[in-house]
Amino acid sequence: MAFSNRRGGVSHSPYDSLNLSWNTGDVAGDVIDNRRRLFEISGADQDSVVVSNQVHGHKVLRVGPEHSGVGVTQDSELEGADALVTDQPGMRLLLLFADCVPVALADISQTVIAGVHSGRAGCQKKISTRTIEHLHEHFGSDAANVIAYIGPSIGPCCYEVDENTALSFAEDCGEQFVLRGDGRPRLDLWSAVEHELSDCGISAGNIENVRTCTCCNSNQYFSHRADGPKTGRQGLMVGVA
Ligand SMILES: [Zn+2]
Repeated sequence: MAFSNRRGGVSHSPYDSLNLSWNTGDVAGDVIDNRRRLFEISGADQDSVVVSNQVHGHKVLRVGPEHSGVGVTQDSELEGADALVTDQPGMRLLLLFADCVPVALADISQTVIAGVHSGRAGCQKKISTRTIEHLHEHFGSDAANVIAYIGPSIGPCCYEVDENTALSFAEDCGEQFVLRGDGRPRLDLWSAVEHELSDCGISAGNIENVRTCTCCNSNQYFSHRADGPKTGRQGLMVGVA
C-alpha cells in the first residue's frame, strides 16, 4: 500500500505538483507523467493499475485482469465505484483524494485487498461496511483477519459544516462524531470511520488511523477545503504483492 502527497511531480500551480487527477482542470499530460512517477517509485506496472471513477456513492466493485490499465491514461470506464476490491496478484488499485478519507483493507489470511473512498457522503452511506460485507460474501473473509489503514484526510480541527449537514451526519453516523463548541459544528470523520470499521468486527489493534489533517497540512497534501476547487488529488494505491 502507498499513499502519495503533493510533492515530486510536474504539475504547475494550483496543481503543484504530484497531481494525479485531470478532473479539476490540470493538463492531462502532466497528470499522466505524475502517475508514471508514482508507479515507478512504488514498483507498479502501469498496465496492472486500475483507477476508479469515484462519485461519492456506495458502490463496491470487484476488479480483475480484464480491468488492467483502465483509467490510467484516460477517463475510467468503471461505473461510479467508490470502493475497489481484488484478489489478483500484481494488480494495483488507485483511488484519488483531496480531503475525503482513504481506507485500505487487506484480509491477511488470503490475498484480498480493497481501497475505499469515504468522504462525508461515503461515511454516511457506510461504504466501508459495504466493502467489508463484500469481502465476506465474495471471498469468505472474516473481519477478524482484516487489517485497515485510515489515511490523511480532513480532520475535526478543520471540517466545519452547517447545522443541517451536522444533523444529517449525526443521524447516520452518531452524534458523538459532531463536535460542538464556539462557532460552527465540526465533523470527526476519522473517528467515525474507525468506529464503523470496529463495528464490522475489525479489532482495534488491526486499525491504523494516522490522524493527519490534509487541510492543516496543505503544503504537503492537496486539500479541497484549504485550496478551493482548483486543486489536485493525491492517491491511495493498494495492491497484492
Ligand atoms: Zn486540520
